[in-house]
Amino acid sequence: MSEDQEMTYGEDYGYIPATSVRSGVGVEVSADLYCHAVQIVNIAFVGQPGRDGYVLVDAGMPRSADAIIEAAEERFGANTRPSAILLTHGHFDHVGAIIELIEHWRVPVYAHELELPYLTGRKSYPEPDPSVEGGMVAKLSGFFPNEPIDLGHHVQPLPEDGTVPFLPDFRWIATPGHTEGHVSFFREKDRALIAGDAFVAVRQEYLYKVVTQQFEISGPPRYFTPDWTQAKASVERLAALRPQLAITGHGRPAGGEELAAGLKRLADDFDKMAKPEYGKYIEV
Ligand SMILES: [Zn+2]
Ligand SMILES: [Zn+2]
Repeated sequence: MSEDQEMTYGEDYGYIPATSVRSGVGVEVSADLYCHAVQIVNIAFVGQPGRDGYVLVDAGMPRSADAIIEAAEERFGANTRPSAILLTHGHFDHVGAIIELIEHWRVPVYAHELELPYLTGRKSYPEPDPSVEGGMVAKLSGFFPNEPIDLGHHVQPLPEDGTVPFLPDFRWIATPGHTEGHVSFFREKDRALIAGDAFVAVRQEYLYKVVTQQFEISGPPRYFTPDWTQAKASVERLAALRPQLAITGHGRPAGGEELAAGLKRLADDFDKMAKPEYGKYIEV
């Protein structure tokens, strides 16, 4: 893509009329960690208002750019902008507003090397699986966009050494399974974790749980997860870090004992709790 070529979303992208009771709600998890819900998905701001700067993690649902810019300006001040946008992965509900955000803020985007084909128009995600074990959202998931977006030169790989641009205290952790290049972000000093969809805090397959945001530390969204062996190893990797705070892709932030116990249970009992009994990404 040359300098003046336009960035594009997948052709199957459009407004998704799915929302929840937490849409528009922001939660300050700690002085420099803020979780904001966009319809059914979370974005995170890392950085303390009035200090050096901030970074946005993930980019919400399609057509949510105005809401994200408003949330950023409300927390950090009018006309402020993040230093960068970091992506846990490139599913539509995590990159839905990214082109408008790049155009508005003129900031670089970072994602794992293995996620770049899906962000530069080269590769579609596997089709969501409406036949997977689960409720109404799983059955409707066939309508979810899976085509690649093309950010061209605006997206760059995360540094190979595990460091995170603009966030010197954080490391990125490879957590594949849900997608090939899925990453989580971890900070040792307060054991804060931004987990994307490696695990989530509301089961994503059931419509009433999504709408009411019923809290439950759960495996990655089933209809969109093609590699359950890797997904399990990723949950074990994150559980071993013993996070004290977690912002996941879906559901309210979690912390302390509910997080420790929930994550341990999920890691110990992954095959029963997370992995579907049947579905096209399950080998029998
Ligand atoms: Zn996802
Ligand atoms: Zn998601």
